[in-house]
Amino acid sequence: MNRGQVLRWPYAVRYGTGRSYDADVLVIGGGIGGAWAAIAAARAGARVIILEKAATERSGAGGAGVDHWQFAADNPGSRVTPEELAQALVDNQGGYRNGISTYIQCASGWSALEEMERMGGKVRDTDDEFRGAEFRDEKTKLLYAYDYTNRFVLRVLGHNYKPLLREECRRLGIRVFDRVAVTSLLTEGGRPGARVVGAAGIHCHSGAYLTVRAKAVVLATNRPQRIWTFSSELRGISTFQPPSCSGTGYAIAWRAGAEFTMMERSMRSPFSSPYSFPPYGSGNAINTWYPCTVVDAIGKEVPWVDAWGRPVSGVAARCHPVEGQKFFIMGGGSSSQPHPGLPRYLGPRPIPDLEARMLAGEFTPPFYADLAGMPEMERKAIWGIMVGNEGKTRIPVMQTYTAAGFDPERDMLQTYDFLRGQGMRDPVLPQERTFGEQGICGGMLVDWDLMSNLPGLFGAGNLVFGGGDHSHAAATGRYAGARAALYARRSGAVEISREQIEQEKKRVYAPLASSTTGPDWKELNAAVARVMQNYGSEPKNAELLALARTWLEDLETNEAPRVSAGDPHQLMRVLEVHDIVTCAQMIVAACEARKASSACLHFKRLDYPEMDPPGWHKWIVIRKQGEGVALSDRPIAFWGDFEGNYALRLAQNDAATGAAARSAAVAAS
Ligand SMILES: Cc1cc2nc3c(=O)[nH]c(=O)nc-3n(C[C@H](O)[C@H](O)[C@H](O)COP(=O)(O)OP(=O)(O)OC[C@H]3O[C@@H](n4cnc5c(N)ncnc54)[C@H](O)[C@@H]3O)c2cc1C
Repeated sequence: MNRGQVLRWPYAVRYGTGRSYDADVLVIGGGIGGAWAAIAAARAGARVIILEKAATERSGAGGAGVDHWQFAADNPGSRVTPEELAQALVDNQGGYRNGISTYIQCASGWSALEEMERMGGKVRDTDDEFRGAEFRDEKTKLLYAYDYTNRFVLRVLGHNYKPLLREECRRLGIRVFDRVAVTSLLTEGGRPGARVVGAAGIHCHSGAYLTVRAKAVVLATNRPQRIWTFSSELRGISTFQPPSCSGTGYAIAWRAGAEFTMMERSMRSPFSSPYSFPPYGSGNAINTWYPCTVVDAIGKEVPWVDAWGRPVSGVAARCHPVEGQKFFIMGGGSSSQPHPGLPRYLGPRPIPDLEARMLAGEFTPPFYADLAGMPEMERKAIWGIMVGNEGKTRIPVMQTYTAAGFDPERDMLQTYDFLRGQGMRDPVLPQERTFGEQGICGGMLVDWDLMSNLPGLFGAGNLVFGGGDHSHAAATGRYAGARAALYARRSGAVEISREQIEQEKKRVYAPLASSTTGPDWKELNAAVARVMQNYGSEPKNAELLALARTWLEDLETNEAPRVSAGDPHQLMRVLEVHDIVTCAQMIVAACEARKASSACLHFKRLDYPEMDPPGWHKWIVIRKQGEGVALSDRPIAFWGDFEGNYALRLAQNDAATGAAARSAAVAAS
């Protein structure tokens, strides 16, 4: 039956009509990076507009909360410097991590958190609930996670940080347009590769067309997903990341001529598997649940080891570096999946050969996270701050389980590892891959201004290559917003090209005129995923990748134009999947360009089996050129000196946004 026969579209439809606006700085995506960018730009005196596909109040990956504020080496308790930590994070990924944005995160994560505190966010244990806990600093009342000796990851009470950011936008007079899905960047003269002078999109309720002319644009729309796995039947559109983040930012920047790097990296991961349990909603020992004890069905405790396999006894020892380490970045793990990082940065974890030992009869499944057996402060931290503030857990896990009678002092929570329920890190099939659902991944190439190769186009948050996390999005958003405002101050406004807008309108509204007998957007998405499973998974070689390219081109040319939309919501979904086709093409182009295998990139080519040959230890950069792809590369640490490049810009940013004056005022009070 036709959708229109079942449901009446509840909003007035205004296809083709629309309004134009002017701004100094346009922010695309009102998530964590975007909201912080808008606030910084407004503090620097810019007139700011945010275009957000969902509702800024809670949109994006960080909208539902945050419990770990990662890598804030500038916090008062940290025993590592931003240089040391940023370099360790880069080294831990074999060099394939963004040194620029990672340094910004390590050097200013804490000052962003202090700013959040001034906006009303709860950052400290002001109720003294954890007085005396080893992970608490008694003077500052800050709470730490993972490495209690070195203290650079904070436990925060971030369930309402996003509404507070939205409120600050309101207070600063930032114009926020919710429910606007941006569909293209506008460039000077409508030319790809030219300065970015605005953007256009459709309203998801009315279908109206909206354009914004701006002197600078910050793109903060997170990463693509649904590239390898998409199952509308098993779990609908739901994935780890929010469904509104579907890679449009990558596609629009690509069409405008922006450079991208590390697009060849993807990894086996259960995060978007149709078989996963809700993240953090089953027992485990990592991340939110670190350092929880795991026991088997008869109560036998799973031993923990350090990075070199030496036993680690007792809960307390899981939170300190061991001999041979100055500090560790992250610990935990609940399965036999190998950890790719360097041992000197790998924290304690349950034995990695647990599966083999279970099969040999030493342990009896199922396993459980033994909250009840944890020391009181650790239990209260996990089933309290962490599960209570982590994204997507406050209501579905904490509140729901509690209402159903779950009592952390008495009960244990089952882990689905080895039951093939794919918990947090269960090994999965090679084709069950994720691109950016988890960890770091490829993205837009930026310089020390967080500006792309396109003048006026800045990036923030997860969309920027090789960075990740909430505090990374906050710190890079704050920095990019200030840089964009400074750029806008010295650059005049440019007329937008009418011709470009007319062409774009034609493209965007085309699905309304398509025949209803073609595939629907879900089928197109499933087809992309099938192509990528078959030819863009493991193994890879030139032949398979050429087949991927051919089939994606076929989908783009012959199938995508036949997908129709019956209302503005469907129109948004169809356009999203067109962009998913583009993102898959970008990934395949990068895979074809890297003619070497790499362990750190999770990239294995049968025709180039040597792992990480020195000649290929570099960034592969792709850019759309006409109908083809232009290739170039960058040396692995092309960003040069951290401190020198950062300090100069930080002083300018602080002067522009008044940050230095605000901190001084707070210190004085
Ligand atoms: C469940 C979960 C828990 C997490 N927990 C933590 C944690 O505890 N600690 C931590 O450090 N990190 C955590 N993360 C990661 C963290 O949330 C992200 O790294 C961070 O939110 C990325 O910020 P961003 O601005 O790049 O993207 P987002 O915050 O996702 O914002 C992107 C925004 O762009 C909008 N958008 C997308 N496309 C368009 C378009 N075409 N037009 C207009 N708008 C568009 C989206 O609607 C969204 O609001 C978690 C992530 C998830 C999913």
